[in-house]
Amino acid sequence: MASRSRSLKATVLTLTEFGEGHREALLLTESEGLLRAAVFGGAKSKLRGLVAPYQTGVAWLYSDPVKKSHKITDFDVTAWRPAIRESLVRTWCAALCAELCSRTHGTADWVLVNGFLDGIDRSSDAECRRGLLRFLWRILSHAGVAPDLSACARCCRIGTAVGQNGENEVLYYSPYEDACLCALCARAEERNFPIPAEAAAYLRATADREAREARALSLGPESEAALRNFLFFLASRLVGGSLRAVETGEGII
Ligand SMILES: [Zn+2]
Repeated sequence: MASRSRSLKATVLTLTEFGEGHREALLLTESEGLLRAAVFGGAKSKLRGLVAPYQTGVAWLYSDPVKKSHKITDFDVTAWRPAIRESLVRTWCAALCAELCSRTHGTADWVLVNGFLDGIDRSSDAECRRGLLRFLWRILSHAGVAPDLSACARCCRIGTAVGQNGENEVLYYSPYEDACLCALCARAEERNFPIPAEAAAYLRATADREAREARALSLGPESEAALRNFLFFLASRLVGGSLRAVETGEGII
């Protein structure tokens, strides 16, 4: 029988109360994906401050193989990320990240998720909004469901949105085809998700280049709003239903 006590790297995604002051943590672990573990102890327990949402550390777990349950016996925090709780935008971005991890059943990449939480912990609200778009695109790419932005899926014209000839062409994402279409091909009913050339270039840079370079690219408010609309739709489709964070995020994000 496998050892009942072990330690592993984990990020606390959510914490919910159960029973008499006990809590259950949803952890994203580096080696075992998602894991639910009980956190026992009342208000005076030292674990209370350690096992808190968006904190990462080494968790010591005691597992009962018969009941298939886990409990956290200690948590050595390596990343506290205190600034996430100081702004509504940061907290909201972290909550959406946690919801995506949970609803994609832990397929979210460990490095990607922790990099995003580190990023929003030290960013302004405006940077967090942009960072969220890059994070969503990476999550979708990682899951293999990010549509191709380099060519129209119908006429195969390449470089449609790049603006190679000084044009500023818009690409349209068609939910019916789950693909992008050029302005010549997209019918009126296929124009709900316009992706301006600047926005498509931003996403491509997010996938191809260093984070620093992608951050430096310009993205006007209209392009940012278009990307939010497009990426929130794809993220909802990825989890197979509407995202609670997106529904409650109006006015915040
Ligand atoms: Zn076309």
